[in-house]
Amino acid sequence: MPTQRKNSRNTRRRKTPELLFGDLWEFDPAPESADPKLKESYSLYIDGQQSAPKSRKYFESINPGTEKALTRIPAAGKADVNDAFSAATNGLNKYWSKLSGKDRGKYLYRIARLLQDRAREFAVAESLDGGKPIKESRDFDIPMAAAHFFYYAGWADKLEYALPGGSYSPYGVVGQIIPWNFPLLMLAWKIAPALATGNCVVIKPAETTSITALKFAEILQEAELPPGVVNIVSGAGATGQLIVNHPAAKKIAFTGSTDVGKAIMRATAGTGKGLTLELGGKAANIVFEDAPIDQAVEGVINGIFFNQGHVCCAGSRLLIQESIAKTFVQKLKTRIASLRVGNPLDKNTDIGAINSKEQLDKINDLVKSGVKEGAELFQSSCSLPGQGWFFRPSLFDGVTQSHRIAREEIFGPVLSILTFRTVSEAIEKANNTAYGLSAGVWTDKGSKILKMSTALKAGVVWANTYNKFDPTSPFGGYKESGCGREGGKQGICDYLKVEY
Ligand code: NAP
Ligand code: MG
Repeated sequence: MPTQRKNSRNTRRRKTPELLFGDLWEFDPAPESADPKLKESYSLYIDGQQSAPKSRKYFESINPGTEKALTRIPAAGKADVNDAFSAATNGLNKYWSKLSGKDRGKYLYRIARLLQDRAREFAVAESLDGGKPIKESRDFDIPMAAAHFFYYAGWADKLEYALPGGSYSPYGVVGQIIPWNFPLLMLAWKIAPALATGNCVVIKPAETTSITALKFAEILQEAELPPGVVNIVSGAGATGQLIVNHPAAKKIAFTGSTDVGKAIMRATAGTGKGLTLELGGKAANIVFEDAPIDQAVEGVINGIFFNQGHVCCAGSRLLIQESIAKTFVQKLKTRIASLRVGNPLDKNTDIGAINSKEQLDKINDLVKSGVKEGAELFQSSCSLPGQGWFFRPSLFDGVTQSHRIAREEIFGPVLSILTFRTVSEAIEKANNTAYGLSAGVWTDKGSKILKMSTALKAGVVWANTYNKFDPTSPFGGYKESGCGREGGKQGICDYLKVEY
């Protein structure tokens, strides 16, 4: 349990909010102690076997909280990717296509249960490798990954209810590529619906966060999943390109940046391959003057600082109604000053490490542009660890639509604040973006929620909450945020070729 030094928080809050979060009031360290059971070096997972890469190439996976290497990860080359697709084709023809939906579901249940059994170990590995706070990997990423396997296990023998009256078939072998912000969860979003619908998989995790994907191979072996049904090939962007261009890949499912998504769309155009793209976002989180203010402050904080802001649907553009803007921004600043930044493995950490040096440079670059273009920067004055890649939780007040920080995805703990006067101005500003992934609305009025959720061009609109996820709920974007949906019944349909 964290301990409190002297005086109660309430006493101090009533007097001087600044003192509360200064040197006088601290949490003792509370590091998570579970063993992540990391190996010195990992293998590719092809045809049900751990195999050394034919490329003979490896790279190091770095702990962004310490900048030290954790383990060696294989970089799959052309021969490895070819092997993975051969194994997947074989796995499909020999095993997976011969199983009933009920039996496929049994494997998915087994995977979900095994993941639950090793949840703490996976949570520590995820936080070490990616930098996210342990409370998030422990309470969100890993349980939610297991929940996706449970959920799609239930669909495996009920596909006809997802597509009543239609005739459908799986794509066959699908290629999947995932990003670094929710490594195991993105893997679950991809693999669970693909297997439930009868497809086999070749998947590539992101270069900076491959560990939990390669540990997941151990779970597949333990579950005795037939060989070739899932193949995991780690590597950089070049490995991703090999997957996209492989003729045996009948569908590509990609989550990542809009630039790479566009390149994949060009590469697959005219090939007949199926395609789903889950790309970037620049969500508006809109607070009306009739909103429950303190609840909205918490929602805005969660919307932008969850997972260091490395969230595609982060509420990175706050739109506040002008009449409450001053009070609201002041409350936000006080709350930001209380966020604890530091060791991702500490149970009290709110904001962990930035995933990579490259990402930290990108955040710094965009923050500099915000200052240069005239927005007003506020940053927490918290101390940062001496080593590792960290960034102070920040907000920009006085942002205008033309600023880069209002248009580009920062993908870090930085909030851009704009104001509006009327409902129509809020809608206009919220939709004035190339993206369309998510949005938030904070108001006491139900009719306003209904109007906004129709008018906002975003795949997900949260009302009086933010960043809520559930396997039953479809997720995906409009415009440059991508195409296709993951999660829910819609997630099933995107892994089937349908004929009516
Ligand atoms: P990224 O650079 O596009 O990388 C995503 C994945 O694609 C990684 O595995 C990457 O490998 C691989 N890749 C890179 N170049 C490729 C190429 N030419 N062909 C095929 N694969 C290639 O994105 P990121 O920086 O990892 O992730 C952050 C982005 O993902 C943000 O824009 C975020 O909004 C988006 N995102 C979207 C969702 C959603 O559901 N809409 C969810 C999470 C994240 P390397 O790791 O080796 O670079
Ligand atoms: Mg790493």
